[in-house]
Amino acid sequence: MSETVDLPWVDEPVELAEAVEMIARADEEDEDVIEDVSARVDKLQRRIERLEDGSDAECPSCGSADDVYKSGIGAAKLASKGALSEKNATALNRESHVCLDCRESFTPSPD
Ligand SMILES: [Zn+2]
Repeated sequence: MSETVDLPWVDEPVELAEAVEMIARADEEDEDVIEDVSARVDKLQRRIERLEDGSDAECPSCGSADDVYKSGIGAAKLASKGALSEKNATALNRESHVCLDCRESFTPSPD
């Protein structure tokens, strides 16, 4: 189960290759899908912000806490910018958070 990613608009974790393909296909075929995804991401993001204080996750690479998202949200945000590559999708799958400032994925230490 290591090669799956959580996409916010898909209920189940999907295979990495499939996720990249879905995103690529959505990008090619339908601008509306991207707009829909962006809207859902914003909605999810607001919900998550209410559920947890995002400020406790700080990017270890650039020190920013402003653009740090759970990796599923980060993946969708990167996808909506056309910036989700196989490389960062793999990193997002491995780590729990991503900083969209410097696009580094990381897992905050639990303390
Ligand atoms: Zn950063």
